[in-house]
Amino acid sequence: MTPAPVPPGATLGFLGGGQLGRMTAMAARTMGYDVRVLDPERDCPARPVASHVITAPWADAGAAAELARGCAAVTLEIEQIPRASLEAVGAIAPLHPGVESVVIVQERARQKEWLLANGFPLGPFRTVRDAASAGTAVAELGRSIVKSAMGGYDGRGQIRVRTATEGVTAFESLRAPVCVVEAFLDIATEISVLVARRADGAMVAYPTSRNFHTDGVLTWAVTPSGVDATRETQATTLAQGIAERLGIVGLLATEMFVLRDGTLLVNELAPRPHNTYHHSERAHPTSQFEQLVRAITGLPLGATAVVRPAAIHNLLGDLWAEGAPDFTRALAIPGVRVHLYGKHEARPGRKMGHLSADGATPEEALDRVCAAYRTLTV
Ligand code: ATP
Ligand code: MG
Repeated sequence: MTPAPVPPGATLGFLGGGQLGRMTAMAARTMGYDVRVLDPERDCPARPVASHVITAPWADAGAAAELARGCAAVTLEIEQIPRASLEAVGAIAPLHPGVESVVIVQERARQKEWLLANGFPLGPFRTVRDAASAGTAVAELGRSIVKSAMGGYDGRGQIRVRTATEGVTAFESLRAPVCVVEAFLDIATEISVLVARRADGAMVAYPTSRNFHTDGVLTWAVTPSGVDATRETQATTLAQGIAERLGIVGLLATEMFVLRDGTLLVNELAPRPHNTYHHSERAHPTSQFEQLVRAITGLPLGATAVVRPAAIHNLLGDLWAEGAPDFTRALAIPGVRVHLYGKHEARPGRKMGHLSADGATPEEALDRVCAAYRTLTV
């Protein structure tokens, strides 16, 4: 039986008060929900938006239970939360996405083995548990990337290698009990698909976003992606199939590679809002943040068609090396907005905010946001 929708006015809980939690909390606030947050960092980005913030490490199942008490539903902005804490939430309030789907996604090797077992297309990879096996995997796969199975994000916990010896050294220096060795793929384009799914199985997909990474970190993203209609349909079907099979309630982002020979492969999954859909605030009637709130509360899912081409460019902490950048010239460019996450400490590589822009075409949106970004770098 489908539960009755959670009406505005109720309290929603967030595991994680980083930028994704903050932007989702703002959408929840707009709709009239109260927001409570759990985050290991006291001054987390969502703090100003939440009525109650619990500061505790992810492994603190008692704190997770405390968050859940009084919440009509709980969601998350980070998947790497220990099972015991997820279960502690789930025992008290509906947790969306549920424990089992998060546990599958949160460990890279488990996620890839699950995708493989369920027939979803992946590049060649090996799961390895010791340095010698990492060496053997590189010898078999050739040029590869050794990725730690736990804890990696924004290209961290990854080492690019060419030889078996480098594979051995990479495994040792990652100091992870489990790694995945992935063949280095000949990528033409990176795209992603965001799917929202409700507890009753209702589902919507956003049109694909085209994404550009530098050293494993997202630099910019733009919608419409410009991939052909066949590829678009293929990507959507794939993403919806994965969300359904995982039983996701909430959001699922599927990162994909389009290879030079046209093959479409899954890179990785994220059961939450995703950096490559930050411009959903501009490109679609429903932002990914509002959509997550709708999905977990059982409200009607919002429209996802492209109403206006839009793009984002990430702002990393490097830009703050000599103090906060001056956004005056960036904001003078038509269609440009600045989004800052309220992080107090700027570290190199840390995501501090993003710029967004719209345009008559995706090219114009991307040109504008990149031009705005360049004004910050000189
Ligand atoms: P994030 O959390 O930012 O999504 P991550 O740290 O989990 O990233 P991945 O998504 O695994 O890392 O990889 C980051 C980027 O590195 C990819 O988007 C792609 O540009 C590149 N990359 C990853 N795996 C491969 C591969 N097998 N072959 C070629 N390039 C790759
Ligand atoms: Mg990724």
